[in-house]
Amino acid sequence: VDTSPPGVCIFCRIARGELPAARVFEDDLTMAFMDIGQVNPGHVLVATKRHAATLFDITPEEGAAVMRTVQRVAAAIGDTFDPPGLTLLQANGKEGDQTVFHFHMHVLPRHADDGVGLSWPRK
Ligand code: 5GP
Ligand code: ZN
Repeated sequence: VDTSPPGVCIFCRIARGELPAARVFEDDLTMAFMDIGQVNPGHVLVATKRHAATLFDITPEEGAAVMRTVQRVAAAIGDTFDPPGLTLLQANGKEGDQTVFHFHMHVLPRHADDGVGLSWPRK
């Protein structure tokens, strides 16, 4: 259930310029900005401009555009932060650890022993 209608949704407010954000890129369908809670330096979110709660609510065109922007942002992060690793994370639903119900993908620079845990058992 979408509990954040566009009027109050924080990412819609960022899209409309009503809330400040450190924007790094935008195109017709997507926007990229720094996550307010930097898990590691260079942590960026790539979101749709249009309000869509989850993966199930975006169009194929938006999905393709998000991945195009993710690749572009990842290259820029590489130039600026030169992390040895990079993790993409995209959460859907409360049970999937989503906290902002406007579609977005995390682009997270990674380093050895950075203490970033993933939410399922991994070797
Ligand atoms: P989720 O848990 O839904 O995958 O990720 C939501 C992310 O949005 C979190 O990492 C959180 O730090 C970030 N966030 C929440 N509110 C704001 C905000 O007002 N501005 C920015 N730039 N990021 C936010
Ligand atoms: Zn929204």
